[in-house]
Amino acid sequence: MGDGTGISWTDATWNPVRGCSRVSEGCRNCYAERVAARFSGPGQPYEGLADRERAGSKWTGEVRIVPEHLADPLRWKRPRRIFVNSMSDLFHEKLSNEDIAAIFGVMAAAPQHTFQVLTKRAERMREWFEWMALEENWSPTATMHVEAGPHLDDDEDDTLAERILDAEWPLPNVWLGVSVENQDAAKRIQHLLATPAAVRFLSCEPLIGPIDLLAASPNARSLVWDLDWIIGGCESGPGARACDVDWLRSLRDQCAMAAVPFFLKQAEETTDCGEDREPDIGDDDSIAFGDGSKMKARRPGGHHVIELPYLDGAQHAAFPGPADA
Ligand code: SF4
Repeated sequence: MGDGTGISWTDATWNPVRGCSRVSEGCRNCYAERVAARFSGPGQPYEGLADRERAGSKWTGEVRIVPEHLADPLRWKRPRRIFVNSMSDLFHEKLSNEDIAAIFGVMAAAPQHTFQVLTKRAERMREWFEWMALEENWSPTATMHVEAGPHLDDDEDDTLAERILDAEWPLPNVWLGVSVENQDAAKRIQHLLATPAAVRFLSCEPLIGPIDLLAASPNARSLVWDLDWIIGGCESGPGARACDVDWLRSLRDQCAMAAVPFFLKQAEETTDCGEDREPDIGDDDSIAFGDGSKMKARRPGGHHVIELPYLDGAQHAAFPGPADA
């Protein structure tokens, strides 16, 4: 578990699952795959999960739960926003329904935190929620209790068990999101909108093509009423693909029209910052703006990436209402 993270829309990451496999264009330059390959030697955390090949890093397709990290959030007392599985995908087909229920059980037992679940497997996510609601199953809370129970072995006074059994469903402290990197991936939106959730969001990062949200949604009403947050951003790191600033502008404008909070995480250096905000890139790769503010920059393949950039003179760092209300 990582307390503190370079991801500006979260406070911490929690990785109870290791391993993954690619599903779409958004996975092409997968950061997790590169890191996993680097630590895949004998005795290392990602042994057997990724390989280092001449052509680059490659997942092996094996996926496993990490029992020693399953209960990590329970040890964190200060409330945090926690990005779940930044190094994998919670709804990967190699995980059983019961495995996923155990992880949701931990989230139910830690209501002080807000968990941000982001997946590229939107259909599996929807199917898992349908499985949880099946009549022949126990109730969702009982299922979570049974599956998470063995991992809550310090629960001497049954407080955690009670929290799980008393939880509302869907869990009010879990946000569900899908990655939408281009119009093809926007088909995931319909599954997200059909899944019960306290907060639903999209992560349009890495944005590698224009996205028309309305074309991918059942109707305008569901966009306005059932979508709570959209994150946008360019790709960074080795092999980063171009992100046209007009794709970001379009996302911003669609959010404004649907009254959905917009969070612009990062953009290429070439993004128009507005008349008074042309960036001055320093020797240390920092970016100084006319008003004295400074932002960190990275240099992926010669391009700077600006975090929390100004777009046409304004930053966009909004969060869904309930969390900050
Ligand atoms: S789903 Fe996420 S972690 Fe898995 S390969 Fe794709 S980008 Fe990487």
